[in-house]
Amino acid sequence: MLPVEQLQEIISASNNIVFFGGAGVSTESGIPDFRSVDGLYNQRYKYPPEVMLSYTFYREHTAEFYDFYREKLLCPTAKPNAAHFKLAELEAAGKLKAVITQNIDGLHQMAGSKTVLELHGSVKRNYCQSCQAFYDDAFILQSTGVPTCECGGVIKPDVVLYEEGLSQETMQRSMEFIAKADVLIVGGTSLVVYPAAGMIDYYRGRQLVLINRGATHSDKKAKLLIQESIGEVLGRISLA
Ligand code: ZN
Repeated sequence: MLPVEQLQEIISASNNIVFFGGAGVSTESGIPDFRSVDGLYNQRYKYPPEVMLSYTFYREHTAEFYDFYREKLLCPTAKPNAAHFKLAELEAAGKLKAVITQNIDGLHQMAGSKTVLELHGSVKRNYCQSCQAFYDDAFILQSTGVPTCECGGVIKPDVVLYEEGLSQETMQRSMEFIAKADVLIVGGTSLVVYPAAGMIDYYRGRQLVLINRGATHSDKKAKLLIQESIGEVLGRISLA
């Protein structure tokens, strides 16, 4: 049996699937991966990206932070791919309970997913640091310099920057979904970056599916390992 046929069987038999996704899910929509060889981290800037995406840099060089943020983190033309759409369909069909993602692009919601746990936040949400007023990514994109609120406060993206901790509530909910899942599908991540690597340890089932183009640190734990494009693989799954 082909791996995709095995995956089809696993998905068809379960109504309690959780998906955990990494950068690979977004790169197939044309969004650069921070950590890949071709990704942001190897591009040339005045400062390294991990410095520019730190909380200290945001506080001390806010205008430069936003120049970088607008140019490299906001991808207004990116569209969901076959993986995003299939996950939304699986949720609508009552088979998938949650998408847990390390991505900040909002593409799962754009594809129609409802229960999306964004471990690193989202570029779609930006808040005034003084009055907490909400601003979307379009507002940030059309702003120049330091985007400010009507009240005069500085706006900050709801994105987890370096030096910042992840939301405990999001972490907790994610771990609960993983712990209760019948099937855990991990896609588009090599599981080297925490908390991803640690979070799948909360899974207690025996149907771990790993879909990633390269090897991961958890390959041995997988019941099914598919080293192919996540969009191509999930795109071939049928809900019938
Ligand atoms: Zn304000």
